[in-house]
Amino acid sequence: MIRIIWMISALLLLGGCVKSKVNRSGYIVVLDAGHGGHDSGAYSGGKKEKDLVLQITKKVYKEFKSKGYKVYLTRGSDTFLKLGQRTRIADHKDAKVFISIHANAIANKRRFNIVEGVETYFLQKTRDARSQRIAARENDSVLQGTDQLSKDVIIDSVLNGPKIIQSHKLAIDVQRHMVKNLQSRYNGVKDGGVKPGPFYILVGASRPSILIEVGYLTNPKERQRLFTSDYQDEIAEGIVSGVNRYLDNRREEVGF
Ligand SMILES: [Zn+2]
Repeated sequence: MIRIIWMISALLLLGGCVKSKVNRSGYIVVLDAGHGGHDSGAYSGGKKEKDLVLQITKKVYKEFKSKGYKVYLTRGSDTFLKLGQRTRIADHKDAKVFISIHANAIANKRRFNIVEGVETYFLQKTRDARSQRIAARENDSVLQGTDQLSKDVIIDSVLNGPKIIQSHKLAIDVQRHMVKNLQSRYNGVKDGGVKPGPFYILVGASRPSILIEVGYLTNPKERQRLFTSDYQDEIAEGIVSGVNRYLDNRREEVGF
């Protein structure tokens, strides 16, 4: 009997060791569900962005946890946080990556059925009018109480930093895995690609940081899918696979 107990313990121990090799235990990720509280974000078809992104962020949280990551949320309930509060959490926790999750919207009603797709942004100034429009919408609430001088200072302080290249690489890996996952189960999921954008939420976090627009609330087909648990699972698994891929590549590059 003792021998059997010993064997079971040894197997469990071995299993734990093998698992910990695969796991990224100790790697810290900070997830930021956009908006919250009085700030609903995009609103369309009776659905609010703040609710959708909280649901998805919680799924992403669970998925990271199951892979052995340490995960922190900027918000886990329907509350509003200022820009500084969100990014301070990322810096304080010494996170490897910072991911802000949002949903998109357009103003032109005649294009509601046409414009759709998943997009991932990293911080960089851009001349692209579309990216500027999306960033302006997302920045609007996050910048409440920040004057123009402070805005310029914070954006200039990071725009030339080395984190931009790493954020770009992270965005590519996450976007690719998310889209691959979604397209394997759903028809017609549009790959909106990786884009630069002046998103202030990405400014304060001094680590690879991306902002994901999981889809368009203004597109009826996409909105319906986005609020289903299965679709959210595919997004969550895609994000985590993408971060795994990024960190594996990065470890080979610099040995961290
Ligand atoms: Zn948003």
